[in-house]
Amino acid sequence: MHQIQCEECRELTPSYEIIHYGSMEDGYRQLCTRCYNAEVAARCELDDFEHIELEPVMMLDKKGVEHVFHFRTRLFGTGVGIDAFEIRDGVPGGYQFSVIGDPQGELLSLLGRLIEKMRRSLSVMYLEDTDLGVQIAGDNGIVRGRIEWDETSDINTPALIIDGREIAWDEFGRMLMSFEGFQFKLEIHDRSDDV
Ligand SMILES: [Zn+2]
Repeated sequence: MHQIQCEECRELTPSYEIIHYGSMEDGYRQLCTRCYNAEVAARCELDDFEHIELEPVMMLDKKGVEHVFHFRTRLFGTGVGIDAFEIRDGVPGGYQFSVIGDPQGELLSLLGRLIEKMRRSLSVMYLEDTDLGVQIAGDNGIVRGRIEWDETSDINTPALIIDGREIAWDEFGRMLMSFEGFQFKLEIHDRSDDV
């Protein structure tokens, strides 16, 4: 796992927990999440904000496959966000979830909302493995997922993360061909929205 030293507390920290924080005038520093939250809390006078280090949790998806989620809490003045994510090859990948709440509010109730969202999502699968390869499951014709950058592609095409799996754009196109002649509706939502 790629680690970077926090310029405040000197702790070696996984790179996904490091934030470039600062301004053009004062310069930027690489801070771990804890030190970053402390700086933002001080700057925004959020004296009551208490950073909580959340231990990873394991959850089962609909097929009984284990998923280990790591958490990251970030303060940003007007809000506080908690992300839950899996680690693939040392970096966040697979399922990812976010919630945003009031920085003066109770962090644990925000975490409760996030866990609820994760449970709901893991209890549904949008894809199924068939003899003809991966297909869109069910007959309600809905797929939920996340748009990411496909770093294996030479051209700028997305990779889709559906059921925590990376699905190449071409692969998704192939799945859609089972519905040739059908109509579709595409909706795009913020990463922290409930959809
Ligand atoms: Zn630090």
